[in-house]
This record gives sequence, C-alpha cells and structure tokens, in this order.
Amino acid sequence: MDFKYVPTTCPYCGTGCSFNLVVVDGKVVGTAPFQRSPVNEGRVCPKGSYAHEFVNAPDRLKTPMIKKDGKFVEASWDEALDLVAEKFAQYKGEQSSVICCARASNEDNYALQKFGRCVMQTPNIDHCARLCHASTVAGLAQIFGSGAMTNSVSDLADTNCAFIIGSNNFEAHPLAGRRLMQAKKKGAKIIVCDPRRTPTAKQAHLHIQHYSGTDIALLNGMMQYIIQNGWENKDFIEKRTVGYEEFKKNVMQEKYSLENVSKITGVPVDDIKTACQWIHEAEKTTAVYTLGITQHTVGVDNVRSVGFLQMLTGNMGKPGTGVNPLRGQNNVQGACDMGALPNVFPGYQKVTDEAAVKKFEDAWGCKMPAKIGLTIPEMLDTFADEPEKLKCLYLMGENPIISDPDIAHVDKALKNIEFLVVQDIFLTETAEYADVVLPAVCYAEKDGTQTNTERRVQRWRKAQDGPGESKYDWQIIAELAAKMGMGDKFPWANASEVFDEMAALTPQYCGMNYERIEKEGLQWPCPTCDHPGTKVLHCETFAGMPDGKSVFAPIEHRPPAEQTDADYPFILTTGATIWHWPSGTMTRRSESLNRDCPTGWIEINEEDAAEMGIETGDIVTAYSRRGEVDVPARKTPDIKKGVMFMPFHFWECRANWITNTPYDPVSKTPEYKACAINVKKK
Ligand code: SF4
Repeated sequence: MDFKYVPTTCPYCGTGCSFNLVVVDGKVVGTAPFQRSPVNEGRVCPKGSYAHEFVNAPDRLKTPMIKKDGKFVEASWDEALDLVAEKFAQYKGEQSSVICCARASNEDNYALQKFGRCVMQTPNIDHCARLCHASTVAGLAQIFGSGAMTNSVSDLADTNCAFIIGSNNFEAHPLAGRRLMQAKKKGAKIIVCDPRRTPTAKQAHLHIQHYSGTDIALLNGMMQYIIQNGWENKDFIEKRTVGYEEFKKNVMQEKYSLENVSKITGVPVDDIKTACQWIHEAEKTTAVYTLGITQHTVGVDNVRSVGFLQMLTGNMGKPGTGVNPLRGQNNVQGACDMGALPNVFPGYQKVTDEAAVKKFEDAWGCKMPAKIGLTIPEMLDTFADEPEKLKCLYLMGENPIISDPDIAHVDKALKNIEFLVVQDIFLTETAEYADVVLPAVCYAEKDGTQTNTERRVQRWRKAQDGPGESKYDWQIIAELAAKMGMGDKFPWANASEVFDEMAALTPQYCGMNYERIEKEGLQWPCPTCDHPGTKVLHCETFAGMPDGKSVFAPIEHRPPAEQTDADYPFILTTGATIWHWPSGTMTRRSESLNRDCPTGWIEINEEDAAEMGIETGDIVTAYSRRGEVDVPARKTPDIKKGVMFMPFHFWECRANWITNTPYDPVSKTPEYKACAINVKKK
C-alpha cells in the first residue's frame, strides 16, 4: 500500500487552516492534522475535517460537454474549445463578461482576469467578493488606503476586548473564533452585536441584539457616548487622522443620543454604555466583522463606521487591535488581489490609471479596455433587462442560481445569455444553464496558492490526479487563448510560472515565490525577496492615504431599502452554518456534513411563532415581493422578535427566492441581510 500525507490549505472559509490530505494508493481518503500552521495550530472545524469527502464524489465532471437540442453531450477538448473560441471571438469586447472564482487559486484567477482583459477585450470582470466583502474592499480603502484585514488571525488571541459585529464566527470562521475564545480565557471581554443569539453571541459577556440594518445608528451612538465621556484617544486622532471635527459634529447630534439609538436599534441604553465602558477600559480592542456589516445597501458606510470606532479609540496599528473583516471564501482575498474585479488590475492598480494600463499592456503585450466594467449584479441586471447589450459569460466555479439574491431575476438573466460557458468541478445548478461545460480539477488535484483573510499566501499541493479528462483551470484558460491565437501570452508550463508572472506585476506579492511560501506562507505586503511579510498593517502610517493619515467622515444612519409593513411584517436576515459552505456544491456532497445537517430551515422568534400557531418542524411558506419558498420552521428564543433567519446553502429551500436585489451604491454588494417577508403555515 502506498501511503502519504500531502500538506494543503482548506478549500472552505477565509481563515485558511492547513491540514494534511491522506493519500492511499494515489487516492485522497482523509484529512489529518498539520501542526505547523500559525493559523490553526493543527485544528480544523467540521468542514475541514471532511474536506476530502467530495473530492472523489461519483458525479465529478470528467469530460467537456456541449448542449445540443437542450441536452448535454460529451465532447472532446478540441471540439469544446473550438466552439468556445469561435463564439468568444464573435462577442469580443463589451458584449462579453467574465466571472472569476473565490474558491479557485490565485493562479487560476490571475489567468482568467488576464484572459478577460487581453483575449476577450472586456472590462466586465468580477467575482463573488461582490456579494460579500466588496464593501470591505471599498470601505477600508477609503479610510485606511488598503481594503484588507489589518491584523492577523493569531493576534485575535492577544486582545483585551473583542468587539464583534455582524459575525457569527463560531460557525462561519470557527478557527478564527477559537482565537477569540483564547483571548476570553486570558480575561478579554467579548461583545457580540447581532440580531440573532448565535452560537458566537452565546460565548459573549455582552450580547447587543440590535435590529438588522441599524449598525450605523448603534456605532454613532457608541461613539457619541465615548466622546461625551472623554474616552476618545486624542493623541491618535491628532497625529494619525484627518476630518475629526466634521465627524464629531455628526455623531454628537441629538438623534444619536443613546435614548434615540435605543429606539432605532431596540437595544437597552445600559448595554450600549457597558460596551463603551469595556472598550475604554481595555488596553487593546479588536473589531471583528463579517457579512452582517457588509451585505447592506449601506455596507461601505457600515465598514467605515467600524473603522471610525477603532480610530476614535486609537485601536489601530498594534497586535490585538485593528479592523478585522473575516473574509468569506477560502481565496476571496486572493481573487481580489489578482484583479478579478472590474476596476483594478492585480495588486489594486486602477484600470483608470494611465500608468497602470501601460504597465500591464507592456507586460502582457496587448491593448486593453481601460475602463471600469460591470459588477456581477450589473451583469445580471443587463442580461435580464437589456440582453442586446451583454450576450456572453465565461463563468468559473460560481453558482449564482443559488447564491445571488432574487432567484427569479437570476433565472431570467441566465436564460437570456446567448452563450454561457461554465468551468467547474461538478455540474452545478448554474451549469445546467450553460452551452458548454468545461471540467476542472479541485484543490486536492493541483498545485497553487490561496490567500487567507489575514493576507497569508499559502500553498495547495497536488495529492491525486483529477478525474477523467479534467484539467487545471489556468491550463484550460491558456489552451483557450491558444485557440484564439494568443497562446504566446499564456506560456506557462506549471502553476509556479503563473505565480512568478503575477508576483512580478503585483507590488504586494513581489517578494514571494513558491520556495519562500513553502512552509508557513507569507503575509502581504511582501515587497522584496528578503521581506518577512506583514502581520499588522498601518503601524506607523496609513501608507495608501494622502499624508499617511486615516480619514474620518460624517455618516448618517439610513434604513434598509425595504421596510416592513402590514403585508410583510418581518425582517429576514440570512447567513451560514457550521456544516455547509455557500451554495453547497462541495459540502452537500460530503456524506458526513449532509448527515449532520441535511436541509435548511427558517428561524422564527418563539413569540412570533406562537402568535401564528407555528411549531418547530412545521413546513411554512416564507414569501416576499420577489417570490416564495417552502421551508421547515424552527421556533427559538434566540432571534429577536420581528426578525427571521434562513441559511443560504440549500437548493431545495433557497433563501434567495425571497431576498432583495438593491445594493450598496459604491460596492454594489446586495442587501442580503435585511428584507421584508411574511410566513404562513402550509
Ligand atoms: Fe476550513 Fe475555515 Fe474550518 Fe478552518 S475554520 S477548517 S479554513 S472551514
């Protein structure tokens, strides 16, 4: 028997835990601890434990497929790529679009955005950060000059106070949550702000149960109280910020008095005072958030408000402090870094900056569309409502028919696409709409890198061959480029060569190569070959800002786009569970995870449920202005009265039948976290 361990990095959440894949006779059969990782110290959550189970699922894609007369038929690679090349040539330019993948490697994302820009000549390039942390990228860049998590996963354990808002990290990022529990054991105070009494909130010393969509009011109220008590860090404000007076004038308005904020948020005044007191008393406070902050029509302003709290109290630039968005997908940070966005090239170099355009045109040897393209919501809107303008989509590894809001709208958009190519490891629910499906290998079958939430670039390593004729994503892209006469622009023999080309063009990655990241990875920025990487950002200066200073600004509370009324009296919020990962493509093919969590549900406050005669296990119809969905009910005291919750992983009871499409005007992130619904017993 041939047996080996292959160290790799988890394909699920942005925490970026490392573990070993157990390989017997050339097949991945299990996972085992990898003790050396500074992120997770050998531990993993249930998803990581079972991250081998989907790898050899019988329905992995094995050959290219072309749809003929409404049915998929197997095709050779030549036949499939010839057809795709012919069609892509027809739609070159702004009639085409590309969606990259936060689950794929840095190398795959670099290759696909380069293909979109060079070969398809389109500015319409995006990926699913749009749906989660685009508000973080835009919001933190506005105030700090960088859109990334400021600190490291390990230093969450070194804080004296954790201010967690809109993050159920106990379920969504369990090994990052473990660090916060380490801090708690050492005496740190834990404050959790969430409309649900989540497993994370149950670990807290103080649970602030505010209404979904009232974060800015809560934060402005807190900051007013901190200023009233003279608890602001005057030295930090004076030396390291601008815009304070205007900001202060805004938060000191009567409408943000604790009494008024209590009315808006539904939180007792004393709880808000306690949170402020604890932050004041702590030597170091860390702020942690996830999608409860970003997935709002005010997502960017929510993010900036969290940043302001940390600037106001001087909790920046030191271990145990900072603004720490826990990124969602395993490589959503990396896909952003790779320029899988409509407004930036790799390394956040702007497509509207002439020098950056010239740099990439020179490096890649082709002219490029130097304009900002469409985001995913704008692509779907255009496919749905103006299909004459946008006709073709190359989609790698995303599943919008489950993951995007208002499924009826997504269905219309996908049906309107004249030519859809899906590249994936399974025939996903979205791939069913495709004209051509291209089979790719998964994380366990390729070399590559991914970048976790703390900016750590880590390795995937090939543990087994992919099934059938499946290929590396970057290899498929390069072969397609060759079919379209541009193979010389994609000359790579292996993933390491893709990485080297990318690193040479990406300032944050310039000092990295496969040899340097072999052991523990490196955290960017890593600008030179002898740079040790960066654990904490903004220690001395905010390097990306004019004068190196962070920027305060006045921000007003604005309610969600859709308000409750007599017909739709409940607020719906959505989120993740510990067992599954966004659209369930991988986790729902894991026997163990599916056994422990076989389907979705809707959480209903016990008083609301009693008023409607609903018991746990009853099937209810949840409905909004967009659609309806049948789903089992769970009666619970853990959710605020008037608020309901659905996990978003489950095809058979998709929360996104009823969610709402309005998005933040800057980040274009949809408002998954607040819409008006009703329920009725079936
Ligand atoms: Fe994987 Fe995230 Fe779980 Fe770590 S915490 S094992 S990265 S899913």
